[in-house]
Amino acid sequence: MKNFEYAAPCSENEVLQLLSDQSGQTELLAGGTDLVGLMKKMIVTPDRVVNIMEVPTLKNIEAVDGGGVAIGATVTLDEILAHPYLEDYPAITDAILGINSMQLQSQGTLGGEILQRPRCWFYRNGQELLDTGQISGGDNRFHAIFGNNGRSKFVQSSRIAPALCVLAAEARVIGPSDSDIQMIPLLDLFRTPRQEGQREHTLLPNQLVTHLVLPPVNGGLNATYEVRQGAGPEFPLASAAVSLELDNQQRVHQARVVLGQVAPTPWSSAAAADALMGQPLDAQAAETAGLAAVEEATPLSHNGYKVQLAQVAVKRAILRAAGLETGGL
Ligand SMILES: Cc1cc2nc3c(=O)[nH]c(=O)nc-3n(C[C@H](O)[C@H](O)[C@H](O)COP(=O)(O)OP(=O)(O)OC[C@H]3O[C@@H](n4cnc5c(N)ncnc54)[C@H](O)[C@@H]3O)c2cc1C
Repeated sequence: MKNFEYAAPCSENEVLQLLSDQSGQTELLAGGTDLVGLMKKMIVTPDRVVNIMEVPTLKNIEAVDGGGVAIGATVTLDEILAHPYLEDYPAITDAILGINSMQLQSQGTLGGEILQRPRCWFYRNGQELLDTGQISGGDNRFHAIFGNNGRSKFVQSSRIAPALCVLAAEARVIGPSDSDIQMIPLLDLFRTPRQEGQREHTLLPNQLVTHLVLPPVNGGLNATYEVRQGAGPEFPLASAAVSLELDNQQRVHQARVVLGQVAPTPWSSAAAADALMGQPLDAQAAETAGLAAVEEATPLSHNGYKVQLAQVAVKRAILRAAGLETGGL
């Protein structure tokens, strides 16, 4: 590991003062389950690490005036699971339970989970994140089936981000100066890098996410479904989160569908949402939405199997939200 300065500030403003405006010079440390491994492998080599776990304002889950919940960026995943305010948001708790690791759930934080770096095995073994031919011509079985026409072939790794996106969560972002405060819809926080060194999110090097703010669900339904190889702490092969609202005739009048682990960003499927509009919430509607979600998939040479898994994830997430899940794949 490269030598680095370490700071553990106690306020949001102190954090901002310690961050550099130059990409890669400073890194924020939350639970460290992703960052420390990358630093040990010298894939990430900051001059200064800024630990944000001592900042009290980042640690709370609070009700928001008018409904909804604000979750501090350093709230741990098991704290979210245990909190009564999260009962209306099963899409989030489904995703956390999928991690299936006491250690990661008690150490990993919400901010770190959504901003963890891609799991692409080429990148994690020291190669560039963006494809120079080795991914498109190599073992790309876990890579993207959507949004992969440029050099970004990796998949966004967060399990919770798709759920936050369908729930219309916003990120409270501060910096570079302490008077700069923005609320950013979470889908807009992610981007597909177009050149090496560009991050997978739009945050400046001297900004930080302080909270994720969830609007109230107002009786809507939501769920996440992950297709995994096994029950251990491993990443899903494909996942989908849905949020649905029904009218008084029990037909869908509002739908959002976001897929995970299939694209360099959480992948919002307008086609799947459109397929649900006006439909009764049943197995046929779920099947049709699943098919619509993958119509425009562009699999690589070794990941065509993920198209079927993504279709199933969407179908099962809808059935789960509707309380119609029957088990099995
Ligand atoms: C062995 C191992 C197995 C794992 N298996 C799984 C798995 O099966 N499924 C799964 O979903 N996850 C898995 N993970 C990943 C784990 O869930 C995430 O690494 C974790 O949730 C990240 O949270 P953290 O607080 O530890 O993040 P950190 O490692 O502290 O940070 C991650 C990144 O986010 C940035 N960051 C953190 N907080 C903020 C903030 N507030 N604002 C801006 N940037 C921020 C950091 O700078 C860093 O780049 C695994 C990790 C390990 C080490």
